[in-house]
Amino acid sequence: MFRRNLDSQRARSLVYLLLVAKNGSIPALRTALGTALVGTSKSLLRGRICQFRCSPYTGYVSAPHCQLHPLLTVFRSSLGVALTLGLVASAHAVPPQTVLHCGKVFDANALKLDTEQSIIVEGKKITRIESGYVSPANSRIVNLKNQTCLAGLIDLHVHLSSSIAPNYASEAFSFNPPDYAIRAVANAEKTLMAGFTSVRDLGSPPGVSVALRNAINQGIVKGPRIQAAGGVSSTGGHGDPTNGLRADLMATGGANLADGPDDARRMVRQRYKEGFDLIKIATTGGVLSLAKSGDAPLLADEELASIVKTAKDYSMPVVTHAHGAEGMKRAIRAGVQTIEHGTYMDDEAISLMKQNNTWMIPTISAGRYVAEKAKIAGFFPEIVRPKAATIGPLIQGTFGRAYKAGVKIAFGTDQGVAPHGENAREFEYMVEGGMPPLEALRAATLNGATVMGMASLLGSLDAGKLADIVAVSGDPSKDVSVMSKMAFVMKDGTIYKAP
Ligand SMILES: [Zn+2]
Repeated sequence: MFRRNLDSQRARSLVYLLLVAKNGSIPALRTALGTALVGTSKSLLRGRICQFRCSPYTGYVSAPHCQLHPLLTVFRSSLGVALTLGLVASAHAVPPQTVLHCGKVFDANALKLDTEQSIIVEGKKITRIESGYVSPANSRIVNLKNQTCLAGLIDLHVHLSSSIAPNYASEAFSFNPPDYAIRAVANAEKTLMAGFTSVRDLGSPPGVSVALRNAINQGIVKGPRIQAAGGVSSTGGHGDPTNGLRADLMATGGANLADGPDDARRMVRQRYKEGFDLIKIATTGGVLSLAKSGDAPLLADEELASIVKTAKDYSMPVVTHAHGAEGMKRAIRAGVQTIEHGTYMDDEAISLMKQNNTWMIPTISAGRYVAEKAKIAGFFPEIVRPKAATIGPLIQGTFGRAYKAGVKIAFGTDQGVAPHGENAREFEYMVEGGMPPLEALRAATLNGATVMGMASLLGSLDAGKLADIVAVSGDPSKDVSVMSKMAFVMKDGTIYKAP
């Protein structure tokens, strides 16, 4: 499902840095390896041996640090080592299945809540769901009788390496990819603990989201399942990293800029080569980029056609950031999968989206956040502030119109603008905007899984799907704000949070 791209030196060094980030300081690699050992022992307890591997960073770290490597190998292959750590009794006691006793269960297909159900999990999968509370012999029971269980939540629009603060524009001068990588590790864990077990990262500096995705898949750090988007932008467009800089820096251009269909084709191929899962473009200006217009169209029809056609060769969906109507329509006609934000969506854009099966990812959270911060003098650069004040407050209204008109909507926040871990506030904004609570839950489960191309594995609590299961205290159909009270998080059958 996910490509592994750990061969390059850059990826190896980033995985190393991700490890270091998790453990707090650069000289602490021994601690990092120690943590890997503890992680391995925990995995062993869960019957999932050998999540951790030394190979991503051998050849990168110095020899003395690697003295622990053989120990890891011995540990993996010998219960004798586990004996010395006093773990064998527990390892033998691990039941083969986990049974969740859920007071309520969200049925994303039927759009209803069932009561008093048992979800049986074996390994990484849900094996069956039974009515009432069953307690098969030799199973671990998790009491969620006061909770509502749902499929793991999916946020289709996050930037795990971003955290917007008053000085964000100056990061272009002081941050290196490892700085972003370290921040992304912390944000990934916050996101998982908030119940979001899968995300699309729609833009992080070169290499970061791919390395983070791989490190999470290998169990090196905790975080959601990631589909990583590689960016293709245009000169001066939203996503041009040299916007707003002085002339000599601006002349350096960006590694992601495509002007003309040939350039566009090459960019998409380059993103594929770098290991990305999908392509993110910007067909209109953006709020936070250091450029004047937030809604001017970007990318011409022939460039868009080239991007979508080339991406299709690699089975990579194309998603676009779009506020203005013209750029949005060009992208819909070209065949993009999702419109992110969609602020100035007019009736023609709405009908084009319905004709082309284009999804809207609203990101009301980002709109609300920038509108609020635009009131604070100095929070945003002066070129950004009027865009934030104008565009930010409109998104929720557009979302309500699109929903009523029947546009397909899936959940996305643009977190990294607003704080990571507060993703579930989007549910409140969606309900305020006119969507019934259970439909908002479906937008973040089944619809998210459909957009990710993973509906056979994720998005609903059905036998045979991956055991990504979360539970909130209370009844979200009555008060959707309880989605922020995450009590239980399981991803791939592993419990990360329990009441
Ligand atoms: Zn974004």
